[in-house]
Amino acid sequence: MRIVLVGPPGAGKGTQAQFIASQLAIPKISTGDIFRYNVANNTELGAKAKEYMDKGDLVPDEVTVAMVRDRLAEDDAQEGFLLDGFPRNVPQAETLKKMLDEMGVRLTVVLELVVDEDEVVRRLSGRRTCRRCERIWHADYDPPEHAGICDDCGGELFQRDDDKEEVIRHRLEVYREQTAPLINFYADEGILLGVDATGPVEEITARALAALRPYVR
Ligand code: ADP
Ligand code: AMP
Repeated sequence: MRIVLVGPPGAGKGTQAQFIASQLAIPKISTGDIFRYNVANNTELGAKAKEYMDKGDLVPDEVTVAMVRDRLAEDDAQEGFLLDGFPRNVPQAETLKKMLDEMGVRLTVVLELVVDEDEVVRRLSGRRTCRRCERIWHADYDPPEHAGICDDCGGELFQRDDDKEEVIRHRLEVYREQTAPLINFYADEGILLGVDATGPVEEITARALAALRPYVR
C-alpha cells in the first residue's frame, strides 16, 4: 500500500504512522524526521533545511523533493510506504504524482487526521521525542514512566525547537495556507479518507486501520 498521512502539525501523524506502518509492514517515511536527523548530524542537507525549520517555514521544494525521490528509490519502499509530512503543498503533490507515474505505481489512499486547532496546540506544547528511537510522547497525555526517558529504549527525550509557542502559531498558518489545499486536491482525485483523530491513540489507530482495510491486498 502507498499511503500519505495529512493533517495539521500536532494531529498525531508521527504517532499514528509508527503504529500503522508497523501493522501494515511498510516503511514510515517522515520528511520531518529525515530533516531533523540531517540537522543533528550537521550534513549539507541539514544546513539547507535548518533555517526554514527553525522559523516553522517549509523547506524549499527542490530540496525536499530531491530527498524524497532518493528515499522512494530505496529497496524497502518498492512494495509500499507510509508518507508522513510529505507532500506539504500542491506543487509537492503534483511532483509526487509524477514520481510515482515514473515508477509505474500510484497512491492507494490519503488518510486525513481530523482534529481541531485548540487540541493541536495542546498536543504540540507537550510533545517530547526520543533522541535515540524517535518514539513520540506527550508530557501529559502520554507520559513515559520516568520523566524525560523513553520507556521503549531508555533514550533521552527532548522538546523540539519548533514546538515553541510563536513557531507553533506560524506553523499552523503555513498549514492553513499551503498544506490544507491538499485536502481538496486528493478529494478531487477520489482517494481521500478522513479519520476522526480525537480520543485515545489506540482508538485512532484502530479507526485508521479499519478505514484502510478495504485497500489491504
Ligand atoms: P504530528 O506528527 O502530526 O505533528 P505527533 O504525532 O508528533 O503529531 O503528535 C503531537 C503530540 O500529540 C505528541 O506529543 C503526541 O504524543 C500527542 N498525541 C498524539 N496523538 C494523541 C492523542 N490521540 N491524544 C493526545 N495526545 C496525542
Ligand atoms: P514535521 O516533523 O512534519 O512537523 O516537520 C518539521 C519541519 O520540517 C517543518 O516545519 C518544515 O520546516 C520541514 N518539513 C518537513 N516536511 C516538509 C515538506 N514536505 N516540505 C517542506 N518542509 C518540510
